[in-house]
Amino acid sequence: MQFSDRLARLRFGSLRQRIAALYAVLFAIVLTVMIMLVSAGIEQFGEHSAQRDLAANARVFDEIIELRARQMRGSADVLAHDFGFREAVATGDGPTISSALRSLGDRTHASSAFVVDLDGSVTSAGGTTTPDGESIWYALDEGRERGMVRMGDGLALAAAAPIEAPDLLGWLVIAQPLDQNEMARLSKLAAVETSATVRDIGNLPQDLALTPVGDIYEENGEARNLYLLNALPSLEDGLSPRLVLRHSLGEALQAYSGLKYTLFAVGFAGLALVIALGGRVAQGVAGPIAKLDSAVRRFGQGETVELPQQTDDEVGRLASSFGSMMEAIEERERKIIHVGLHDGLTNLPNRRLFAEQLSQHLARRSNGERILVAYCDLDDFKVVNDTMGHPAGDTMLRHVAECLRQELQDAVIARLGGDEFAILMIEKNPNVSLFDHARRIKDCFERQIRIEGQLADCSASIGIAIAPSDGEDGVTLLKHADLALYRAKRDGKANFHFFEASLDEQARRRREMELDLRLALKEGQFALHFQPLYSLRKNELTGFEALIRWQHPTKGMISPAEFIPLAEETGLILPIGEWVIREACHAASQWPGNFSVAVNISPKQFSAPGLSSIIMQALTTSGLPPQQLELEITESVFIADVDKVLSVLHGVRDLGVRISLDDFGTGYSSLSYLRQFPFDKVKIDQSFVRDLCQEGKNAHAVIRAITTLAEALGMETLAEGVESPEQRQVLEDEGCGFGQGYLFSRPVPASAMNAIFGQAVFPARQSA
Ligand code: C2E
Ligand code: CA
Ligand code: CA
Repeated sequence: MQFSDRLARLRFGSLRQRIAALYAVLFAIVLTVMIMLVSAGIEQFGEHSAQRDLAANARVFDEIIELRARQMRGSADVLAHDFGFREAVATGDGPTISSALRSLGDRTHASSAFVVDLDGSVTSAGGTTTPDGESIWYALDEGRERGMVRMGDGLALAAAAPIEAPDLLGWLVIAQPLDQNEMARLSKLAAVETSATVRDIGNLPQDLALTPVGDIYEENGEARNLYLLNALPSLEDGLSPRLVLRHSLGEALQAYSGLKYTLFAVGFAGLALVIALGGRVAQGVAGPIAKLDSAVRRFGQGETVELPQQTDDEVGRLASSFGSMMEAIEERERKIIHVGLHDGLTNLPNRRLFAEQLSQHLARRSNGERILVAYCDLDDFKVVNDTMGHPAGDTMLRHVAECLRQELQDAVIARLGGDEFAILMIEKNPNVSLFDHARRIKDCFERQIRIEGQLADCSASIGIAIAPSDGEDGVTLLKHADLALYRAKRDGKANFHFFEASLDEQARRRREMELDLRLALKEGQFALHFQPLYSLRKNELTGFEALIRWQHPTKGMISPAEFIPLAEETGLILPIGEWVIREACHAASQWPGNFSVAVNISPKQFSAPGLSSIIMQALTTSGLPPQQLELEITESVFIADVDKVLSVLHGVRDLGVRISLDDFGTGYSSLSYLRQFPFDKVKIDQSFVRDLCQEGKNAHAVIRAITTLAEALGMETLAEGVESPEQRQVLEDEGCGFGQGYLFSRPVPASAMNAIFGQAVFPARQSA
């Protein structure tokens, strides 16, 4: 498990714990309050019932004591009515009285029976404790029959019956001490555990003594005893006997402690249940969130995930929101991937996707199956872009893409960028010629496309490589198709070319030459040769064209026609061109007279910045007057950004440098360029001159048309490649002002220039 997952678990774990804890705490509070209330209730109930019990016990004791007293009174009454006994009392017969009293005592289990005379003297059976007769006499005389008396250290219950014969002789009294043992015996008769004592009020603690009879006094302290006092009748003056009942509240409440424990136990069980249930509920809430969280996290890491089952609650809605969000993200991702793998203009797969699909097809290729990879490049697309505008170029590309899509439905088509397309076709039948496929592809491109009402010609050069013979991996196949395309371009437009091993060899040689070219510049292997420019009318030398030569250390002299295109392709033309400008200016500045020097400038030099300053520097350093420098440009410079080219041309022209249009007549729309810039000179291409003396060609008319137009525009004309006096004659007749060619001189090295300057005579005009 990853750290982040563990973290998430912890987080949602704690959410679960928090919810469970909240439940538990809430329940615990409620439970505690309830237990406290119930405990207090139980306590109160216990106290009340203890008090009730105590009061009931008090009544029971009252009745028992009353009953006992009445029994004692009954027993005393029986003896007091006995004739013999009355006589004995009347006669004062002590022994008889004693014996009667003894037997009464035995019968009633009373501890003491005695007779009180009218004068208060006491006659007892002897050997028994009796109360003081005088102190009880008053009560007896009043007619009270039952009550408490002091006997010895304690108190005793006494009952008295009058002895009458028929006049009152005295009272027969039976007394029973209510000592601890007796009271304990009585206590056993009570329903609840109570300890009872009988005491004079004077012997009671003050608090207790002050408690009104019948009220319950609670002793504060550990024992928590309840006391209840009951007044007992007294047979003695100065005696206020009280029945003191004591009931232990602690013990009474003890009976409820079991209930309390049960309550606590039930409470704790409830709490445990709540914690467990809280955990479940929390799991129910936090669980889906945690799942959602992990799903979203895994989605973020690029996995395809399924969201947790959606419920109808907030979590469910959250999950469904996440679901829609994830779908939106996936949709956007798909779009981004589509954009990344497709060309925005044509919606065709781009180079990356094409390479990917090519390698997939190559991996799946079965035996005998051939895969054709065509690299296509539109011809003269730049011209369309420049003359009709970029939107027109875009329209053309879209048209081409649409045609390819419709007519090559079995192929994979891609736009590699610019005006380059790639096509992949699979041929399962080994007997089918792939030339048919190549022609099909070529025909797709060859059409006229209507753009904003104008018809534009479209065609493409196509290089083809075939797997497995030309390569088994995508990179090699594309490279070989590209080499074949390079070759097809060189062969002319609207062409296709299959890859062949020699192309690879050519490419290898090109690479080798490129390396050599870089070295050549450093090691000064370049030289300039100069070819005279000749005024046909004045019959004199006017200037020279600088032509570069490469003296290769092993391969000898290499023609510029061979290395200039490569230098242009690789960009090496920039330093080379700069060298030519400086070298030409320097050489011309050394020449006698004011011969001009013409330098060839390649289109690449125009699109790179700084051409004007290079020229200016070369002029300043050499001291050559600008009027003696001439730049030769071909109309292909206009294939680049026309406005920029024109501004550079005007800038250079403003320095005083002259501009010639080279190879005139070979280009796409030479005449239209002629009108765009006020050239100083037009150089008619060699091919027209070559045609001059051949039958059936209307070269004369062409030359005349050019010279007429140039004259109208105020431009000079120069014919290139003049090799024969006949040619020279026709040119002069057709109004051409200047000539250049072997007829006058081949290009000569700088070392041979002096001979040229010294040679006054040039081939003369052909005599008519
Ligand atoms: P270009 O500018 O048209 O140069 C004229 C070419 O025609 C030269 O070939 C020259 O030797 C050749 N030529 C001259 N008179 C005759 C003739 O009577 N008959 C025939 N058949 N050919 C003649 P070169 O020197 O081989 O140059 C070839 C091309 O190389 C040039 O064509 C020019 O485009 C390019 N080039 C030469 N030097 C430079 C340079 O310094 N910079 C640039 N950018 N291009 C250069
Ligand atoms: Ca030239
Ligand atoms: Ca030329």
